[in-house]
Order: sequence, then structure tokens, then C-alpha cells
Amino acid sequence: MKPGLLVVVSGPAGVGKGCIVRKAMETMNCIVLSISATSRPPRPNEIEGVNYFFKTREQFEEMINNNKLIEWVEYCGNYYGTPKDFVLSEIEKGNVVILEIEVEGALNVRKMFPDCVLCFIIPPDFQELENRLRGRATENEEAIQRRLKRAKEEFSLIEKYDYVILNDTLEKAVSRFTSIVEAERMKTRRNNEIIEKFKNI
Ligand code: 5GP
Repeated sequence: MKPGLLVVVSGPAGVGKGCIVRKAMETMNCIVLSISATSRPPRPNEIEGVNYFFKTREQFEEMINNNKLIEWVEYCGNYYGTPKDFVLSEIEKGNVVILEIEVEGALNVRKMFPDCVLCFIIPPDFQELENRLRGRATENEEAIQRRLKRAKEEFSLIEKYDYVILNDTLEKAVSRFTSIVEAERMKTRRNNEIIEKFKNI
């Protein structure tokens, strides 16, 4: 039985977290993505249950009160949170569960699951990030400025993460990310069962 693993992927809006994780899932079939709940309204291309579970603020607060979330935050005026049941059951199955979440949530996850792996994705430079965010054309100028400001705040916390992954090209970033997942799964402390078997030969 392979050990389950919780991997948190953070990085500023527009850095390409989603693309990296989706590509990684194509090459490693043990990777599953946790779908977050949010009170943010869906963007035109977003699908319920695929990108997020879209909730009203009241529904989200009900999830908080019923202890249905591992962590939650208020980010740029909206609630975001990680549903608990999916994460716990997938880890139990031995899968690698990815949480694509922002920094405050990531640091809360680390407190609850000290064994999780925290990865931070960085762009080649700040201008490139701004270009990508504008290229996405899904937000107005005010929202873009808010996200850029938030990106600067998040960069100041990179050292709290275990790994920093440069997204210069998608292919290289995916390879860096999957190497980390593979290596973390091979850590001796995650493989006690196999080790015991060999010790007793
Ligand atoms: P967006 O509105 O661009 O989809 O997401 C905004 C930010 O919220 C991103 O940094 C994203 O990673 C983060 N986020 C998405 N889901 C969650 C979650 O469940 N918990 C936390 N803490 N952050 C989340």
C-alpha cells in the first residue's frame, strides 16, 4: 500500500498553479485534486463541482459551523475553504491529494497536518505575472490590482514552504512538481510498512 500524501500548492493568482496540477494529474494517476468551496461567483467558464463548489455566504457559513472544512479563509472579499471528507478519505486510500490554496490556508493546513508538503509556485518575474493576469482577462482593473498586492504579501511568506517551484515553462514546472511528489512518497518515514517487511526477512 502506497502512503497517502497531502500536498499544498500555493502561488499568486495567474502563476499557473492549476495548469501545473492538471498536467501532473495526467502523468501520475495517484494524484487527486481537492475541489474547494467558495462564495465567489463563478467566472463565465467555470463549472460547479469542477472548478469549485459555489456557495452563497450563508451556505458557506453553514459549512464552517458544521465543521465540514479543513481550513477556510476570507480572500479578497470572498470565502474559500477545503471540504474535509474528500481529503481524509483520499489520503486513507493512499492517494496524493492536492490542495490549490492561498498562503494563510496553507499555513493552517500545516498546523493540522504537520506531515503535509507545502509547494510555492513562482513566476519568472513580477512583470510576467502581471502580464499573465491581464491576459486572463477575467477580472476588472481593481481586482487585478488587489491580486497583485496580495501576490506581494504572499511572496513574503515563501520561506514557510518546503519547496519553491519556478514556472518558467509549463513542462519544466510540471517535471519539478512531479519529482517532488515522487521523492516525498519515497521518504523512509512514509514507508514503515515496506521497511518492516524487509527488516524481518
Ligand atoms: P480564485 O478566485 O482566483 O479562484 O482563487 C483565489 C485564491 O484562493 C487562489 O490563491 C486560490 O488558490 C485560493 N483558494 C482556492 N480555494 C481555496 C481554499 O479552499 N482555501 C484557501 N485557503 N484558499 C483557496
